[in-house]
Amino acid sequence: MNQLETIKENVQTYGLTDGICRGENLIYSEKTLAGLENIFVDEDKRKAMNQSEVVYRVEAYFPVAEGTEAGLFFGTSRINPGQVGDEYFMTQGHFHQKANRGEFYWGIKGEGVLLLMDMERNTRAEKVFPGSLHYIPGFTGHRLVNTGKEELTVGACWPSDAGHNYGDIREQGFSKGVFNRNGVPVLEDIEKR
Ligand code: MN
Repeated sequence: MNQLETIKENVQTYGLTDGICRGENLIYSEKTLAGLENIFVDEDKRKAMNQSEVVYRVEAYFPVAEGTEAGLFFGTSRINPGQVGDEYFMTQGHFHQKANRGEFYWGIKGEGVLLLMDMERNTRAEKVFPGSLHYIPGFTGHRLVNTGKEELTVGACWPSDAGHNYGDIREQGFSKGVFNRNGVPVLEDIEKR
């Protein structure tokens, strides 16, 4: 018997330099400016832009069903370069539905910032670049910001029972944002909505 026949070809692959997930049980989603109401500080500016412009896309590998305890999901987020007013394009951001669940992010391509906000609304920022690794603890809201001129590509791995809580961010926002001030990304306080 040929021993190699017992070593199966893996149908699941991952592009180390582009984050492309290939194989089975993949899901794809995208977020346009139309779907990001009240996320950016300057809502009038957002409304005045092309509503079908894609701000970010997500591809993910779900080897188990959403909500499965003790499983893991794996994926890639791609945030396009751009701004709403002076505020860089970014993801909607979320806490986890099971709020104590953590997550890993890692930078693959481009440059950006990961905003992390605790339950007391203290927000900190970590630089994202190819090879940067980010541990997102539980009870921490997270949002990716593209401060560069090319796509920001970020890998992620999170528990399959974490879920997403977008509501708190949608209602209250983050306490800080990242703005282009004379070509330099600056972390600034945002007034509570
Ligand atoms: Mn998450």
